[in-house]
Amino acid sequence: MSSTDLNGPAIAPTSAEQSDATTEPGRHAQIIVIGGGLAGVAAAVRFRREGWHDFLVLERADAVGGTWRDNTYPGAACDVPSHLYSYSFAPNPNWTRSFSGQREIQDYITKVARRYRVHDKHVFGCEVLSASWHEDAARWRLETTKGTFTADVLVGAFGALCEPSLPDIPGIETFEGQVFHSARWDHQAQLAGRKVAVIGTGASAVQIVPAIAEQVDELRVFQRTAPWVLPRLDRRYSALDRLACRFVPYYQRLLRSGIYWAHEAQAVGLAKAPLAMKPLGIIARAKLRREVPDADLRRRLTPGYRIGCKRILLSNTYYPAFRHEHVQLVTEGISEVRADCLVTADGAVHQADTIVLATGFQVTDSPTYRRIFGKDGRSLGEVFDKAGRQCYKGTAIANFPNMFLMVGPNTGLGHNSMIFMIESQVNYLADAIATMRRRRIRSVEVRQESQEDFSRMLQRKLSRSVWNTGGCSSWYLDKHGANTTMWPGFSHEFRRITRKFDIDAYHVSTRGPV
Ligand SMILES: Cc1cc2nc3c(=O)[nH]c(=O)nc-3n(C[C@H](O)[C@H](O)[C@H](O)COP(=O)(O)OP(=O)(O)OC[C@H]3O[C@@H](n4cnc5c(N)ncnc54)[C@H](O)[C@@H]3O)c2cc1C
Repeated sequence: MSSTDLNGPAIAPTSAEQSDATTEPGRHAQIIVIGGGLAGVAAAVRFRREGWHDFLVLERADAVGGTWRDNTYPGAACDVPSHLYSYSFAPNPNWTRSFSGQREIQDYITKVARRYRVHDKHVFGCEVLSASWHEDAARWRLETTKGTFTADVLVGAFGALCEPSLPDIPGIETFEGQVFHSARWDHQAQLAGRKVAVIGTGASAVQIVPAIAEQVDELRVFQRTAPWVLPRLDRRYSALDRLACRFVPYYQRLLRSGIYWAHEAQAVGLAKAPLAMKPLGIIARAKLRREVPDADLRRRLTPGYRIGCKRILLSNTYYPAFRHEHVQLVTEGISEVRADCLVTADGAVHQADTIVLATGFQVTDSPTYRRIFGKDGRSLGEVFDKAGRQCYKGTAIANFPNMFLMVGPNTGLGHNSMIFMIESQVNYLADAIATMRRRRIRSVEVRQESQEDFSRMLQRKLSRSVWNTGGCSSWYLDKHGANTTMWPGFSHEFRRITRKFDIDAYHVSTRGPV
C-alpha cells in the first residue's frame, strides 16, 4: 500500500509548524496528547487539519498504533470489518480481507500518521509519570521519562484495553517455563512440540487457540466462563474488490455505510430490548451443535447467560480446534501453579511448559488514572474510587479542567467500531478547543451537576441493557458493580451529543492563553 492509497488530502508542512516542531522536554505546548494509538493519532490529525500546530503526542513506546502495535499474538485480527474499522477521513481501498490482521492494521495506522504529518509530533519513548493541574498558571504540568512538559489542554488517549490484567494465581511466580500475556507475546518462545496452557477464553483466546493448535504438542484451554461465538463472515478481497473501492465512485463509502448500519442494528438487542438478542442466540447454538459433535464438550462450551452479556466473539475456527485430540478444554478453576504444571480445583495436574495469559486488560482501573492529578490534588484514580467512574460524555471530568479523555468511561461498544466513537470524541474536543480560542477562555471544567445528571441518565438506560440483565459478570462492570464501560445505545446517538461543545455544561474562566 502506498501512502497515496489513503484517500483524503495530505497535509503539507507550514512555516508555523516548523517553528513549533521541537519535541524537546521543558517545552510548553498548547495541547498535549498522552498516547499514540488510534485515538491519539485521530486527535493529532484533526489538530493539523484545524491548522493548529502547537501540539505534541507523548507515547511511551517507540511507535504509533497502541493496541495494534502491542497485540502481535498469532491470529490477531479485528472483529469489526476493516472498511468500517478504519478512519472515515482515511479510507483504505487495499484491505486484503474483511477482518484484517494485526500487521495490516498497524501498517495502516503508521501510514496515516505519516501521511497526515503527525508522526513527527510524537515524542516516542516518553512515558507520562504524572500530570497535574496548576490553577494559577491554568496549565497542566507533565513529568515524563523524557523530562517535564507543560500544556494548556491535556488529551488523555492512553487507551482502555492497554494495560494487561494479570491473574493472581498462587504459585504463578514459581513456574519455570515461559509465561506471557497475549498483548506482550514472546516471539522468542518456541511453541512447536510444547505443552501450552492458555488461560482465558475471551476475544484474544479465541483467535490464539486455533492459530497455535496445530504447532503445539498439547494445548489446554482454561475456561472460567464459556463465550458466545458467532460465525465470522470473513473473506479475502479480490483484486476486483480493491479496484472497485478505488475507482468506482461512492462504492467504498456505500460499503462502509452498509457495514455500519448492519452493526448499528445490534444495539437494539444489546442496549434497549435484550429479548431481541434471541435470534443471535439461536444462530450461536446451531453453530455449536454443528461444530462440536461431542455432547459433553458441547455442554461445557455452552454459555449459561444471555448472548451479548459478555462480548460476542466471532470465529469459524475456535470450536473446530477442540476436535484435535491434543487440544483440551479445562473448566475447573485453577487453584495453583507449580514449577511445571497447573493444578485445578479437582486436584488434576496439567503439565505445561508455556502459559499464555489471555486474561484481558485493566479496563476500569487503568494505572494512568493514578498519575493524573486534578484541581484539588486528588488523582483521577482516587476520584473514581470514591464516586465511581463518572464522566461527562465519556470525555470530561469535574475537578480536571482543560482535560479531555478519549475512549473514557461508557464509550465502549459491543456492536460497532470504536473508531466511530473516537472520531465523535475528536469532534467534541476540537470544538471545545476552537471555542476556547475564539472566546479567549482560560479554562473549562465540566459542572458537577452536568456530570451527575449525565451519569444518572446512562445508568438508567444501562439498567435495561443485556450487560446488566443478562446474568453474567464481565469486565464491563467496575468494582462497585456499576457498568461504567459501555455506551447504552446507538453509536450515532453518541455522535449527535458530541457534535458540538456544549459550553453551558461547563464552568468557564476567561482571559489568558489558548
Ligand atoms: C486484541 C484487540 C482487538 C481489538 N479489536 C477491535 C475491533 O475489531 N474493533 C474495535 O472497535 N475495537 C477493537 N479493539 C479495541 C481497541 O482497543 C480500540 O479499537 C482502539 O485501538 C483504542 O485505541 P486508543 O488509542 O484509545 O488506545 P490504545 O490503542 O490502547 O493506545 C493507547 C496508547 O497510549 C500509550 N500510553 C498509555 N499510557 C501511557 C503513558 N502513561 N504515557 C505515555 N503513553 C501511554 C500506549 O502505549 C498506547 O500506545 C480491540 C482491542 C484489542 C486489545
